[in-house]
Amino acid sequence: MPPAPKPETLAAFQAAKGFMPLGEGLALHAAAVEAGALGLPLLEVGTYCGRSTILLADAARETGTTAITVDHHRGSEEQQPGWEYHDPDVVDPEVGEMDTLPTFRRTLYKAGLEDHVIAVVGRSPQVAALWGTPLGLVFIDGGHTDEHAGGDYEGWAPHVAEHGMLLIHDVFPDPADGGQAPYRVYLRALASNKFTQISESGSLRVLRRSTGTGI
Ligand code: SAH
Ligand code: MG
Repeated sequence: MPPAPKPETLAAFQAAKGFMPLGEGLALHAAAVEAGALGLPLLEVGTYCGRSTILLADAARETGTTAITVDHHRGSEEQQPGWEYHDPDVVDPEVGEMDTLPTFRRTLYKAGLEDHVIAVVGRSPQVAALWGTPLGLVFIDGGHTDEHAGGDYEGWAPHVAEHGMLLIHDVFPDPADGGQAPYRVYLRALASNKFTQISESGSLRVLRRSTGTGI
């Protein structure tokens, strides 16, 4: 078993705003420690306020690599005013739009993990289009429409290095449990034969890039 996060990291995770339950967080951390051993960066799509980023950052610190987290910080569809997951505390009153970047920065500062994270503020497909570095792990936890989840997969899966991992959050095979776009991305990844599932925890799926397949 890979080492669990440090107690202070777990406390910071539990205190952070966000959408990742503890059990799934531990599975994310374990996969990130394993992937970090490849010596390649770990990348997250969907920072929000940094809850899951804390765990990637801890794993990056443990393995001597860096976590990268990508978000435009204006929130997903379901986080906008009037929608189910809206939090009025993360609206910038001056511009009247969501802005999770300040909360994210506080989260990471309090966790003592700033040195292990590069935050990229931008739209996932635009960042992916400029990307050139092989990644040990890609964690897809961004927008939940087919356009966004599909774009995240198309943009980032090709950058997963051989032996690297692809993690997908919010996979709900039963439509009664949640939206289907991340589930469809998960099915695409399996159908591509470029990824094989190695574990699951709640709605988190952990896949590894199959060996001997160019992407
Ligand atoms: N990982 C977080 C939750 C992420 S919520 C946690 O553990 O709590 C999803 C995030 O994806 C939101 O912050 C939203 O702004 C971001 N997002 C949605 N679509 C995006 C896109 N196309 N590009 C960049 N970020 C996006
Ligand atoms: Mg999620």
